[in-house]
Formats: sequence, structure tokens, C-alpha cells
Amino acid sequence: MITLGLEEKNTFLEAINKKSGANVLNCYQCGKCASTCPVSDYMDFRPREIMQMIKLGMKEETYMSNSMWFCLTCAACSGRCPREIDIPAVMEAIRHLVIEENYRSTSKKVKDIRKFHEIFLEMIKRYGRNYELRMMAEFNIRTRNFFKDMNLAPKALLKGKIPLGHESTKSAKAIRKMFELAGKLEKRK
Ligand code: SF4
Ligand code: SF4
Repeated sequence: MITLGLEEKNTFLEAINKKSGANVLNCYQCGKCASTCPVSDYMDFRPREIMQMIKLGMKEETYMSNSMWFCLTCAACSGRCPREIDIPAVMEAIRHLVIEENYRSTSKKVKDIRKFHEIFLEMIKRYGRNYELRMMAEFNIRTRNFFKDMNLAPKALLKGKIPLGHESTKSAKAIRKMFELAGKLEKRK
């Protein structure tokens, strides 16, 4: 059992460890992750701080921060972690738990990033790949930022950077099946 003091059980740490498969307790606060992370300057709390907050059971503060939403899952941090902690998996676990437990940040940036995640996953579920033009349009509509990057669109279209049409991948059906199976496995956890 993981305890905070003599009595209190750190259920937050246990939930994160279970979900991520990592052992956050192994972190000895060297700070290598924070100094390597390319987006740590944008985070409310750097990866090292997030690890410590989890160890201290600071669930609310962790869930309401923007750190996990800025994480790119690039794994630069875990590549340098002397304790071999899978930090991107920890960030991913926080994102999942935030959604499952229905926490909502008031930050517009976080709201927009969450919308981007949702739309991207919808595209993959529907077509088996990203459909850039539709994704841009849906993102602008859902974030009520109707003309965002519109000035770039004609140039990108002319250069063929953004294809007008789209085709689902051959494996779109199999990818949909994967989503279904992943959903079932998540419910069993
Ligand atoms: S690099 Fe690893 S041990 Fe060091 S602070 Fe980050 S998570 Fe902790
Ligand atoms: S995986 Fe996330 S936390 Fe780690 S270095 Fe990349 S962006 Fe930063």
C-alpha cells in the first residue's frame, strides 16, 4: 500500500501507476526531464514537478494544470530519465483520468487542445487517417475561431499541401475495430 502519512493512502499515485504502467515513486527529482522537455516553458508545472505532485497526492492541482495537454509524447524526457520512468505514459494517464473523471479546465488553450484531440481521433476513427481540410474546418467551427489560418489556405491548396478530397485508408475498418476493442479494454480496467 502507498501511504502519504501514517494513515492516508495515496490513491492518486496508485491510479496513475496503474494506468500508465510506470512507477512514479521511483522519481528522485533530478530534473533531467524538465530540462529536456521542448514544451516545459509552456506548462503550468514541468514534468519533474508533475512527478512530485503525483507522489504527494495533489490530484486537483495536477488535473487542473495544462501540463499534460501540452505534452507532445515525444519521449525526450523518458530517454534521459535515470530511473527509466515512462513519463509520456504518465502524462497520457493523467489525460485519460481527467476525461474519465470529467474535470474541465477554464483555460481557453486547454479547451482548444482538448477539442483538437477529439476532432483528430474522430478523423482517425472515421477515415483511418487524418483528413486535414475537414479537421481544420471543424476545429475553427468548434473553437468559434472561424477565420483562423484562412489566409494560409489558398497557398497551401495551390501547392497541394492540403488535398481537397480524401480517401479512407484500406485499413479504416480494422482501425475502427481497434478503437472498439480499446474502449472495451478501458472499461475493464
Ligand atoms: S528525469 Fe526521471 S527521475 Fe529525474 S525528475 Fe524526471 S522523472 Fe524524476
Ligand atoms: S514526452 Fe511530453 S513531457 Fe516528455 S519531453 Fe516530450 S513533451 Fe515533454
